Amino acid sequence: MLHQMRAEYGSGGPSAGVKIWHMVREGEQTAMCGREIDPGAAAKEPTDWGSTAELCCHTCGAVFLREAPYLPAEHQ
Ligand SMILES: [Zn+2]
Repeated sequence: MLHQMRAEYGSGGPSAGVKIWHMVREGEQTAMCGREIDPGAAAKEPTDWGSTAELCCHTCGAVFLREAPYLPAEHQ
């Protein structure tokens, strides 16, 4: 099961920086919390979850951990 972190930007757009990170299942454009992700939004490895300077979406985190409790499995 593969996931990707995707950025949500605030009203200032990408140049204003990332507002919050969401978790998205590979190949989908909707975050696990239900939010639509901009196709051009920045992406990060799922292992960066919780270690970014910006906030991570609390709802995405809860769903993600339930679906993929063992992060090392992402690297097999
Ligand atoms: Zn989210």
